Amino acid sequence: MFRSHTCGELRLHHANTEVKLAGWVQTIRKFGSISFVDLRDRYGITQLLFGEALTTELDANPLGREFVLQVSGTVTERSNKNTNIPTGDIEINVQSFQVLNKSAVPPFTIQDDTDGGDDLRMKYRYLDLRRHAVKKNLELRYAVNRATRDYLHQQDFMDIETPFLIKSTPEGARDFVVPSRMNPGEFYALPQSPQTFKQLLMVSGYDRYYQIVKCFRDEDLRADRQPEFTQIDCEMAFVEQEDILNMFEGLVKYIFKEVKAIDYNAPVERMTWENAMWHFGNDKPDIRFDMKIANLKSAFMKAGAIVATGELINDAGFGIFEQAETVLAIAVPGAADYTRKQIDELTDWVRRPQIGMQGMVYIKVNQDGTYKSSVDKFYSEEKLKTIANAALAAKGDLVLILAGKEERTRKAISELRLELGQRLGLRNPQEFRLLWVVDFPLFEYDEDGNRWVARHHPFTSPKPDQIETMISNDPSIANASEYLKHPYSNIKANAYDMVLNGNEVGGGSIRIYQRALQEKMFAALGMSPEEARHKFGFLLGAFEYGAPPHGGIAFGLDRLCSILGGTESIRDFIAFPKNNSGRDVMLDAPSTIDEKQMEELHLVSKLK
Ligand code: ASP
Repeated sequence: MFRSHTCGELRLHHANTEVKLAGWVQTIRKFGSISFVDLRDRYGITQLLFGEALTTELDANPLGREFVLQVSGTVTERSNKNTNIPTGDIEINVQSFQVLNKSAVPPFTIQDDTDGGDDLRMKYRYLDLRRHAVKKNLELRYAVNRATRDYLHQQDFMDIETPFLIKSTPEGARDFVVPSRMNPGEFYALPQSPQTFKQLLMVSGYDRYYQIVKCFRDEDLRADRQPEFTQIDCEMAFVEQEDILNMFEGLVKYIFKEVKAIDYNAPVERMTWENAMWHFGNDKPDIRFDMKIANLKSAFMKAGAIVATGELINDAGFGIFEQAETVLAIAVPGAADYTRKQIDELTDWVRRPQIGMQGMVYIKVNQDGTYKSSVDKFYSEEKLKTIANAALAAKGDLVLILAGKEERTRKAISELRLELGQRLGLRNPQEFRLLWVVDFPLFEYDEDGNRWVARHHPFTSPKPDQIETMISNDPSIANASEYLKHPYSNIKANAYDMVLNGNEVGGGSIRIYQRALQEKMFAALGMSPEEARHKFGFLLGAFEYGAPPHGGIAFGLDRLCSILGGTESIRDFIAFPKNNSGRDVMLDAPSTIDEKQMEELHLVSKLK
């Protein structure tokens, strides 16, 4: 027997028990003729006391950090208790010890606040994983995983595995491909998601499916993306949108309860995509704080019509605003006393290339009811007041105004809102606010390619009352700049996203389940009937054999964990993540393969 207990287990009531422990040496401290060693394992740290005789033995064969050590001894009450750790009341009076294995000096300290930089920690990830800070992230992930399985099992979902070597599934990213040795010149694609398989399972009658599954997308990696990531992937048959929303807010609430002991009793708020864009400037609003955007002038599509709210600005005779396509404002609560320097700094912030604005106009709504603005010269006090009122500013608020092209300005003001929310401490990581965003557009228009693209994916159905609009209209557009006038711009999808604290944590849709409508969708996306049959013949075929109405959702497990864990990076919640260039620096992958392998895979010709 290597051990009788773990290093996190022993308490005062174990005093006088003979025990055996095994673990890694965290620290060694020598005090005259006695030595203390902190022994660590997955469960905690226990202090070992080496008496005089053993200390002499240790002097002859010194222990080092991360040595693997086994000790036998007696649990004793400590005179000097450590209240910071659960085992702090006791120590082990060591009678004998054995070094099970030595360790080289680790390249960084195995502690919460380690001295190891990112690259070094990733290269030695197996050591990094020994650190408590990383371990508790993986424990949280496991707890989320378990809660998910519990809940879905209780709800009659079946976990069914689907293959990894498949044909392209369109989630809008590039595929990772795998050459087939047995089929020269042919390739498998790794799934971007199990989308088509889970739909086929519905056709097969497995009416509640789930899988916690790896998905692969060859995207340019932003800081919080991974080329392989994990989804909680779900599908249900005989459901409408409402059934899905209820089932899966149930799941997330169950996870909150099990993992964070949070009773999220409030109903999950819902917001249409249009309102999200209109009031928050993006489709995943952080509703922990208000600071809604005022549309002083806009050409945004809302409720099927282009909403232009320009009068306020246009009458005023201020050139920049008159010419701008869009003028948007936020009222920052209590910030009217910002100094010149603070405002200049914010102006620089919106001018950064990532935000891309040329400048920023402000109006201070002073406590005494007066107004101070960077455009005093052009606007009467009365006008400033009208604008401030439109921005819903109260006394003491600072109104910030951005103007420019519609999309960029909307994006910029939404970033500015988040930044100020952060600076003002309105985005408390301990507070969790869920939101369903619904009624997304079914199509987006790709102006460069002059074609419609599916906003979610091509299997998403339109709202039932808009199926006719989709079927009866020709998707083609003569003049690309007029796409907003095409009836397809107005079609809403039966799709929904779950947003948590300003992050999209899940998304899904009610699917198309009739062959004719699916074919129309492929055609709308510019696929010829041959191409549609070549790529998705299996699905179109399946739809001819009694496909039930169905829909589903997928949650990003990594992201969900990182939000619950209160950190930004999903990498912290993945045991062996890749870096921002998609590399595994520990394995040094990807790497080249030898010529023989290339030949076998038919990637190079044998004849040179
Ligand atoms: N397959 C979709 C995705 O990966 C989710 C879904 O529609 O269920 O985003």
